[in-house]
Amino acid sequence: MTEHTHRRGDGTDTPATIDHGGGVWSIKVPIPDNPLGHTLVHLLDTDRGPVLIDTGWDDPASWSALTTGLASLGVRIEDIHGVLITHHHPDHHGLSGQVREASGAWIAMHAADAEVVRRTRSAEPGVWLDYLTAKLASAGAPPDHLAPLLAARDSGRMRTLPGLDAALPDREITPGDLLPLAGRTLRAIWTPGHTPGHVCLHLEEQHPGNLPGRGRLFSGDHLLPGITPHIGLYEDPDDTTVTDPLGDYLSSLERIAALDAAEVLPAHQHAFTTPAARVTELLAHHAARLTDLRTLLATPLTPWQLAERMEWNRPWDQIPYGSRNIAVSEAEAHLRRLVKLGHAEAVEDTDPVTYAAL
Ligand SMILES: [Zn+2]
Ligand SMILES: [Zn+2]
Repeated sequence: MTEHTHRRGDGTDTPATIDHGGGVWSIKVPIPDNPLGHTLVHLLDTDRGPVLIDTGWDDPASWSALTTGLASLGVRIEDIHGVLITHHHPDHHGLSGQVREASGAWIAMHAADAEVVRRTRSAEPGVWLDYLTAKLASAGAPPDHLAPLLAARDSGRMRTLPGLDAALPDREITPGDLLPLAGRTLRAIWTPGHTPGHVCLHLEEQHPGNLPGRGRLFSGDHLLPGITPHIGLYEDPDDTTVTDPLGDYLSSLERIAALDAAEVLPAHQHAFTTPAARVTELLAHHAARLTDLRTLLATPLTPWQLAERMEWNRPWDQIPYGSRNIAVSEAEAHLRRLVKLGHAEAVEDTDPVTYAAL
């Protein structure tokens, strides 16, 4: 479940914890064997006790970094009162269960991502594998890419799915509402795109350094200073709804820019100001990408063929197996968007289906 496919930002030069002022800190929690480097777990002081925003990857070294970081801020893991999750990905929600076990904290998440957690926990690996194989085949994946999946199915030896043990949240984050946090004014903003239930959390309190703008925004993976989050399809074997995650993401970006936050506290890389300027960059990036893809579709292509021709952070033949699946999902998200905009269409009677520019 690689997150970001464009540029790396490991932030090795930043300290283990940062005091952002006004009862907000960040703790760097490493993600093992990942070029992204770390998750920034945020600690928010409330009148009922400290609350975490995201928890980090489920790994002993990550757990140790989290508890050591908290201890250096004078907080014991047992004292954690609640956990707010921006989205279900394992670098954000991985340690939530362990935090709850140690502290009795509640865990809150948007319903759409809670549904993904529920589904993943109960997923039968064979069903998931069949779904993935069928999906890749219909996207035009070549036989040599499908072979390992078919072999795993035949042998009955299926790898466990990531997120199989992810903690079920016990509270729901309701978009638009103020979160019930004693002494704090934190509002949930639904920002689907990267995942169906991604939320940003807007701390509607005066910036402690009096920076111009309206408060601070915990942006999760939605808005990051130097990388673009992965936007694929919302994978669900049980749901045949044709979703448009890229369209969701782009409108979520506009919603976030309109908040006019003084500072953004993202879950990777580093804090930054002027979110509207970053949103403008990202919108321009995706607009340019859609234009490029439309040009590529002068020749009808399957999603797989489109992914092969798209620009990635390395040549296609050097992209590892699992990342190709993610890349195809990203190509499909762009195709959905182009079709929705009336800039491309599925070519009739093609199998696997090809798409052509309009
Ligand atoms: Zn993510
Ligand atoms: Zn992430």
